[in-house]
Amino acid sequence: MKFDYEVLIIGGGPAGLSAALALGRMSRTALVCDDSRPRNAASSHLNNFPTRDGIHPAEWRKLVRKDLEKYNTIRFFEGSVLSVERSGSGFIARLSSDKIFHFKKVILAYGVEDKYLQVPGYKELWGKSIFHCPYCHGFEVRGSKLGLIGNGDTLFYMLPLIYDLASDLVIFTNGKAEFKEEQRNLLERKNIRFIEDKITGFIYEGEKLKSISFENGENVERDGLYALPTFPFKLKSTIGEKLRCEKDQFGFYKVGEKGKTSVDGVYACGDNASGAHSVLLAAASGGMAGAGIVHELLSEKLSE
Ligand SMILES: Cc1cc2nc3c(=O)[nH]c(=O)nc-3n(C[C@H](O)[C@H](O)[C@H](O)COP(=O)(O)OP(=O)(O)OC[C@H]3O[C@@H](n4cnc5c(N)ncnc54)[C@H](O)[C@@H]3O)c2cc1C
Repeated sequence: MKFDYEVLIIGGGPAGLSAALALGRMSRTALVCDDSRPRNAASSHLNNFPTRDGIHPAEWRKLVRKDLEKYNTIRFFEGSVLSVERSGSGFIARLSSDKIFHFKKVILAYGVEDKYLQVPGYKELWGKSIFHCPYCHGFEVRGSKLGLIGNGDTLFYMLPLIYDLASDLVIFTNGKAEFKEEQRNLLERKNIRFIEDKITGFIYEGEKLKSISFENGENVERDGLYALPTFPFKLKSTIGEKLRCEKDQFGFYKVGEKGKTSVDGVYACGDNASGAHSVLLAAASGGMAGAGIVHELLSEKLSE
């Protein structure tokens, strides 16, 4: 069977680009497909990445692409992968250009989709005053009036971080609080207020949150908010499901140490394969998946 490239990489974010780097350095051929919906698109700063702390996310991707220029076995397609199916010993993929290509292996690096609270102002403030992670955005709002939107055990996992960051913290459960007795006791002991009323809007100026309004008419001033995810995560594509890759309870592909999914020849890395969501960790898992595939390809080549 003739293959157009050895590897199809779906997603040109930190995970997909780092996988491409590993493949390029081992002279493997790969097509990186990306349809420009990076997870951190709403942010103007990418923090917590050594040597590039504070860089613009688009600039970071541009620098990686520049690094990849010298590896001429790596090619790019700016568009979507619409479908991937098994075909003989490999895979056949249809792209949004309507072209069809054959590959030996596939890397799923298409990330996750954030769900927005359907309340005015939320989407506008996402990544600017409403954050998903204090490592990415926390230092900048330290010592200010913060809020935590969430409920249940997930909230208490994040609580120590945001409690320490804030000068004053309020929890917004946006509906009935689902707290255990010891969790309620902790909030009382630490004097942390929680509001169960439904949020009706976020009042802001430019990119800066001013206050949050509630169904009962109350208004609470805040400088920044952390919003916890609801599980399972929605992934940016269903290609992996269609290939029958198994997922865990949180919605991520189940992978081995080197990114191998439950389906032969299919690897996954980055946000769609782990709950640890950061550029550094996505890049690391992309590097591992790339190395995993290189090893598989070259072992197959040796035993031909
Ligand atoms: C608002 C915000 C700010 C953040 N800030 C930081 C930060 O400061 N520091 C940090 O370390 N982390 C930050 N993160 C987390 C970080 O963005 C992610 O962990 C990281 O981008 C994950 O990389 P990835 O490659 O897995 O996915 P992504 O970066 O989301 O890339 C996936 C790519 O796949 C493409 N794609 C999807 N489906 C298809 C398809 N069918 N065909 C072709 N292409 C497809 C998308 O267009 C996208 O470009 C932030 C997250 C958010 C939400």
